[in-house]
Amino acid sequence: MSQPNSLIYSILNTKCPRCREGNMFPKGTLYTTKFADMHSNCSSCGQSLEPEPGYYFGAMYVSFGINVGVFLVAMVVLYQFLEDVSTTMMLGVLLFVIVGFLPIIFRISRAMWISIFVHYEGPGNEIPKKA
Ligand SMILES: [Zn+2]
Repeated sequence: MSQPNSLIYSILNTKCPRCREGNMFPKGTLYTTKFADMHSNCSSCGQSLEPEPGYYFGAMYVSFGINVGVFLVAMVVLYQFLEDVSTTMMLGVLLFVIVGFLPIIFRISRAMWISIFVHYEGPGNEIPKKA
């Protein structure tokens, strides 16, 4: 499931969808103000990582779906361990999920979005490099 070139692995590690080797985001910027900065092209195969302006608009829907999923899991866990769950507690969990996981969910939803349109072609040294 998490072999170095599986689809799941490449999405969770935000790798280029075409070669699954190059990183979509610069290293060490996940929990910094630069978490949204992306490489413009894959360093390994040259695939454009932002083919057109506004390309990742649709990734917001993916991100929303992931947020709802994470929130529901958090709610189930909360109800499992507490008898009374107040509105304040729910809002706290919601805030924690949305803010705490923002950079991770942001990146994974972009990786999922581009994976819908750009398909795996092979290792970077075996496929033609794009300009
Ligand atoms: Zn690539």
